[in-house]
Amino acid sequence: MKIGIPRALLYYKYKHLWETFFDELDIDYIVSPETNKDIIGKGITYAIDESCLSSKIYLGHVEWLMDKCDYILVPRISDGSDGTVCTKFQALYDVVVNTFRDSHPNLLYYNIDPEVADFEMTAFLKMGKALGKRKSQSLYAYLIAKQVQKRAHLREIYEQECLLRENRLKVKILLIAHSYNIYDKYIGEPITNFLRELGAVPVIGDIAPKREAIVKSGEISQTLPWAFNKELVGSIPIYKDRVDGIILMSAFPCGPDSLVNEILIRRIKDKPILNLMIDGQEGNAGIETRLESFVDIIRFKKDDLHG
Ligand code: SF4
Repeated sequence: MKIGIPRALLYYKYKHLWETFFDELDIDYIVSPETNKDIIGKGITYAIDESCLSSKIYLGHVEWLMDKCDYILVPRISDGSDGTVCTKFQALYDVVVNTFRDSHPNLLYYNIDPEVADFEMTAFLKMGKALGKRKSQSLYAYLIAKQVQKRAHLREIYEQECLLRENRLKVKILLIAHSYNIYDKYIGEPITNFLRELGAVPVIGDIAPKREAIVKSGEISQTLPWAFNKELVGSIPIYKDRVDGIILMSAFPCGPDSLVNEILIRRIKDKPILNLMIDGQEGNAGIETRLESFVDIIRFKKDDLHG
């Protein structure tokens, strides 16, 4: 049996958890490749126009996996532990079922919905059962996977702290973007690469310690409903004093981000902010020009301050 994992949306948040869980259960899996033109083109064809670019890309990855595995992992997550999640995650399973109803893909899913006592561990035990594994095997695999996920996150936090310490004099830009956008080959990678070409250091908001970020998000807004946005917003107080500017990067037309970004622009007055909406159009020339001007302005200000 081979499980297909779409390299999009929650993959970037849960890749260590999923991959280690399957490794420990000795289950073969395949992850779809980095987003490319073909995948994004297919995603755009399958998705409805109103979908955000990230969801369109997700459908392209599902389509890529369709004839290469026995089951495709499509979780249904209704709630995060610190607030609700975007409706796209709540509806993901049903969207995939309906979009590909003619091909009848076999989907492997788990539900997270604290309202009906479906917590993460219970969900993984149920998924293990569906894969024919004993409860004790699935529990062991889940606990190991959680440890691996935690260690990987601690390593990222440590590496980012080293990066901040080693580059005190360089222009540092905090990137506020969902993990599936910032790490995507098509959406986020061209931006982080271009910032490095400009001699700036990208600091990834998503790497911030999650619990601390959730608490600190209250310093900016106490009424944000979305758990993943709270984690990103809370990274601003954590890193703000050690960066020179902030880029808010969203996938068009993201509902939660458009509201949250507006709040951030109104409430953060002591750092320059650039708001970038990525819409999947060909070419990055316009975005590169805006990035270049943003970094130039910050660099002039920084040089002025340091004489
Ligand atoms: S939060 Fe925004 S980018 Fe993410 S899935 Fe929802 S609409 Fe799409």
